[in-house]
Amino acid sequence: MKDAAPQTVYLSDYTPFGYVVEDVHLTFQLAPTSTRVLSRIRFAPNPDATDKVFFLHGEELNLISAMIDGKPVEPVVTSVGLSCPVPEKPFVWEAEVEISPETNTALEGLYMSNGMYCTQCEAEGFRKITYYPDRPDVMSVFTVRIEGPHPVLLSNGNPRDSGDGWAEWRDPWPKPSYLFALVAGDLVNHSDTFTTCSGTEVALNIWVRPGDEGKCAFGMEALKKSMRWDEEVYGREYDLDIFNIVAVDDFNMGAMENKGLNVFNSSAVLASPETSTDANFERIEAIIAHEYFHNWTGNRITCRDWFQLCLKEGLTVFRDSQFTSDIRSAPVKRISDVIDLRARQFPEDQGPLSHPVRPESFQEINNFYTATVYEKGAEVIGMLKRLVGDEGYAEALELYFARHDGEACTIEDWLKVFEDVTGRDLTQFKRWYSQSGTPRLSVTEDYADGTYTLTFAQHTPPTPGQDEKLPQVLPIAVGLLNANGDEVVKTTLLEMTQAEQSFEFTGLASRPIPSLLRGFSAPVVLDRVASKEEQVFLLAHDTDAFNRWESGRTLARNSLIAMVRDGAAPDQAYLDGLAALLRDDELDPAFRALMLSGPSQAELAQALHEAGATPDPDAIWQAKETMADTMAQSFRDLLPKLAYEGKVTEPYAPDAEQSGMRALGAATLALQTRLDAGAAAQKQFDKADNMTLQLSALGQLIQVGKDTGAVQAFYDQWHNDRLVMDKWFGLQVGAAHPEVAVDRAAALSSHPAFDMKNPNRFRAVFGALAMNHAGFHRRDGAGYDLLADWLIRLDAMNPQTTARMCSAFQTWKRYDADRQAKMKAALERIAAQPDLSRDTTEMVSRMLG
Ligand SMILES: [Zn+2]
Repeated sequence: MKDAAPQTVYLSDYTPFGYVVEDVHLTFQLAPTSTRVLSRIRFAPNPDATDKVFFLHGEELNLISAMIDGKPVEPVVTSVGLSCPVPEKPFVWEAEVEISPETNTALEGLYMSNGMYCTQCEAEGFRKITYYPDRPDVMSVFTVRIEGPHPVLLSNGNPRDSGDGWAEWRDPWPKPSYLFALVAGDLVNHSDTFTTCSGTEVALNIWVRPGDEGKCAFGMEALKKSMRWDEEVYGREYDLDIFNIVAVDDFNMGAMENKGLNVFNSSAVLASPETSTDANFERIEAIIAHEYFHNWTGNRITCRDWFQLCLKEGLTVFRDSQFTSDIRSAPVKRISDVIDLRARQFPEDQGPLSHPVRPESFQEINNFYTATVYEKGAEVIGMLKRLVGDEGYAEALELYFARHDGEACTIEDWLKVFEDVTGRDLTQFKRWYSQSGTPRLSVTEDYADGTYTLTFAQHTPPTPGQDEKLPQVLPIAVGLLNANGDEVVKTTLLEMTQAEQSFEFTGLASRPIPSLLRGFSAPVVLDRVASKEEQVFLLAHDTDAFNRWESGRTLARNSLIAMVRDGAAPDQAYLDGLAALLRDDELDPAFRALMLSGPSQAELAQALHEAGATPDPDAIWQAKETMADTMAQSFRDLLPKLAYEGKVTEPYAPDAEQSGMRALGAATLALQTRLDAGAAAQKQFDKADNMTLQLSALGQLIQVGKDTGAVQAFYDQWHNDRLVMDKWFGLQVGAAHPEVAVDRAAALSSHPAFDMKNPNRFRAVFGALAMNHAGFHRRDGAGYDLLADWLIRLDAMNPQTTARMCSAFQTWKRYDADRQAKMKAALERIAAQPDLSRDTTEMVSRMLG
């Protein structure tokens, strides 16, 4: 049986497991289609549990034998696990099962990738390895013996012993089964050491396939920086003798924080200047940090159940954002995070997939590794930190680590440490974890006799299952400027708790210009009709970098929306303000690049939807084109000054400074291409000695349709590098003219190098199609049909990736009736497939409502 009938699990049904696991011994006898897993587990009755049912999870396992205290038993086995009568005292459970890693294409549990064995157990993959209480609140110490003919045999913890064809590992730290990992293969390592703050030397390794060892140095530096940063900023020291990272080609996610043995999608760790872009380097640095930080926020303190996923993910995303802000540019990081939040989380929160940061029910937990749990979860922590202040936050975290080390916790535990440290009542704040939807914040102003009054009103529209919403606690950071651009009131945090609330500023000499929601201090939609003059003024003068960017973004968005809705011309005041900013060499090039890049088509569709209009993808695309053409013409004289060529004389480095200049150069090249039909892009492509320059040039050539030679040349140069080939596949679809994007995706899916079993390659083509807004939403529905066809095929192989990619359809209800009907038909066609996975069934039925 492939899947059990979908069952809904509820947060409110939580009960502790009836038994404590005192100790786990596992032996793996590796063989591609017949791996034997022998388990010996010491159980004892759990004094805290009333329910003493002995049920072990297990899926797709072939049970060979089972024993209790050395005597054979015959458990009742179903497709989801087994149950068995057990003694009312401590006992030893032993089982032998057989599994087939080679045919495991779902990439959950133990599977094979290019001849190596690896595991992915979060969230519920361990039950595909052996029978076990596969739930995060069951924590135990593991000893693992691996037998196989592979030169490298790895598991969690510290190495205990090894010999020819076997190795033993012992992890002294109790952990849940989702953090279990095993890797075996013909691997080579890039090694280093790190001395912790207490003087312990830790061996560090990045394990890769032979040939990739030259792409590990950057990841290793990122790891060491992360280890140091977590000591300095959070006081967290590493706790094993060894830390291993393994790169795997076939992987559903970015990376996994298994204790002492992180497993990474190779795209999230391998890097070299020739094959990786600046953006790749930054992402790798952030993911390595993220997984490392989980050692404390996730591993040492884990989640009681999967409803608490945001406890480890929201906090760890918040921590990795802090890390990137510290070692790169804080304003640029904040702006990038907000762009990402609006692009991924807002559509989720405003559509049929909307759910609270802590969901209250699910059928398949894999479907809740979402932007809401991760990114909104991190925003919630950012708000908490603003409300209690930096010192309060630091003290609360100290208490959290001291109080809960070694435990499986809940959001209640998390909030309690803040209440205990600061004396605050966080009852209302807790709504951020239970109430779904994006709050909308409107504001009116009044000025009389030196007193300026801001009156805010908040309202959260209904979301699935939640019609009535209560007011949230909103930290609103505000600064006030005078007409000269001087800050007359520096950034002040207003704490809004009611549906409508006023705040007064007294003693002002004149009516101020407000800079609201500085640093995007709360994840809301700010509905404010500010005059264009005011926006232009803030674009020129705001002392808060985020809000300065936001003013430019708002002007650009308003202009584009007027172009779409009323056929207006591009706003000259915006273009003039932007030009002034671009000329200012005091400003960080990365910041200027963000100003120049403008809102995406999807963001405009989102903005139109928020304004109560029906977005027309063709009109949005046309408006973006007109705006870019107009910018190219009006900035014509400025472009040579902003171009990258000749700006950097030092050797390539993926640091913030150089990559900012290349980002500005890429945005400039995009405009230049509209003036010279790709001449500068071709020149850059031919001369490029790093992937950032090569790829940005190739993107422009594809966009302008002058790509035949360059696409082939790029293929000839890189066809042996699978990560670079993912870029080649993705860019041809992502940068394509909307009329050809679908056909190109279809053609590339029959390219000999297309491999649907590899999630990176599948996402390269079809993720790029979904991101090509006007291309995917082609009027005749060809984009919807093609994606649906491929998702149906993929579901039989890899439900997890299929279900996640289904979210391309999540905004279907906001488009015109014709497109809606076509998207709905595509979703219904997926839903009607026999044997559709539990993952995809849940996603599609939620979207169809
Ligand atoms: Zn994580």
